Amino acid sequence: MIEPALLQKISYAWILLGIVIFPILLFVKQPYGRHYRKGWGPSLSNRTAWIVMEIPSLILIAYFYFWHSNYNLIASILTIMWLGHYINRTLIFPFRIKTKGKRMPLIIVVFGIFFNLVNATLNGMYISMSDFGPGFSGYQIMGMVVGILLFMSGMILNMLSDKNLIGLRKSSANGYQIPRNGLFEWISCPNYFGEIIEWTGFAILAWNPAALSFAVWTIVNLLPRALDHHKWYKSTFKDYPEKRKAIIPFIL
Ligand code: NDP
Repeated sequence: MIEPALLQKISYAWILLGIVIFPILLFVKQPYGRHYRKGWGPSLSNRTAWIVMEIPSLILIAYFYFWHSNYNLIASILTIMWLGHYINRTLIFPFRIKTKGKRMPLIIVVFGIFFNLVNATLNGMYISMSDFGPGFSGYQIMGMVVGILLFMSGMILNMLSDKNLIGLRKSSANGYQIPRNGLFEWISCPNYFGEIIEWTGFAILAWNPAALSFAVWTIVNLLPRALDHHKWYKSTFKDYPEKRKAIIPFIL
C-alpha cells in the first residue's frame, strides 16, 4: 500500500491538473453526444464506449473495499454510495440511452478510462486506509448528515434528469427536443448540476483530498459542457426559454 503522504501529494497534483484543464475545456467542446464531429480519429459505438469507460470505477472501488477489508461504518457508506452511482452509470444508463448509430471518439474513451482509473484508485486507497471513528464529534456527525443528504439529492436529480432527457426520444431517430418540467424550467443541464451536488456531498462525507479531487474534476468536466449545451440549445431552438440558465439556477 502507498504511503499516506504520497497519496495526499498525488491527490493535490490531480486537483491542480484539473484546474489547468478547466480553461481549455471552456474553449474545446468535448466531442460526444450532440457535439460529436469528425476529425477526432477512430470511434466506438456510444453504448460500448460508456460501459468500457466507466467500468474501471466500479471494479476498482469494490477491489479496494473487499481486498483491504476496512469495513468501518463510513468506509462502508462511501463504498455503497460509489457503487450505487457506478452500477447505474455502467450497467443501467448505457442500456437506457436511445443512441442508435451514434459514436464516441476513441480518444474520449481513452481519456475517460484514464480519468476513472486515477479517480477510483485514489478514492479506493483513501477509503481502504481511513480510520473513521468509532466515536464521532457533533461537528463530524453534522458533516456526515450534510454529505449524505447532498449525495442522495444530487444522485436523484441526476438520475431523474437523465431519465427525462432519454424520454425525449420516442422514436429511433437521434433528434433533440427542448426539455421541459422540473428543474429544466430553470436550467438546461440539471443532470450535470445533480452530479456536481452528488460528488460535493461525497467529498464532505469522505473529507479527504481524493474525494475533493473528484468533486473538482466533475466541475471541470461538466461546467464547460453545460455552457456548450446551453449555447447549442439557444442557437438550435429559436423558441428556447429566454430565462433558462445553463447549470446554476438564476446565476450561470
Ligand atoms: P447529456 O445531457 O448530453 O445526454 C444524456 C442523454 O440524453 C444522452 O443519451 C443524450 O443523447 C440524451 N439527450 C440529451 N439532451 C437531449 C435532448 N434535448 N433531446 C433528446 N435527447 C437528449 O449527458 P452526457 O451524455 O454528457 O452525460 C451522461 C451522464 O454522465 C450525465 O448524468 C452526466 O452527469 C454524467 N457525466 C459525468 C461526468 C463526471 O465527470 N462526473 C463526465 C461526463 C458525464 P446524445 O448522446 O445523442 O446527445
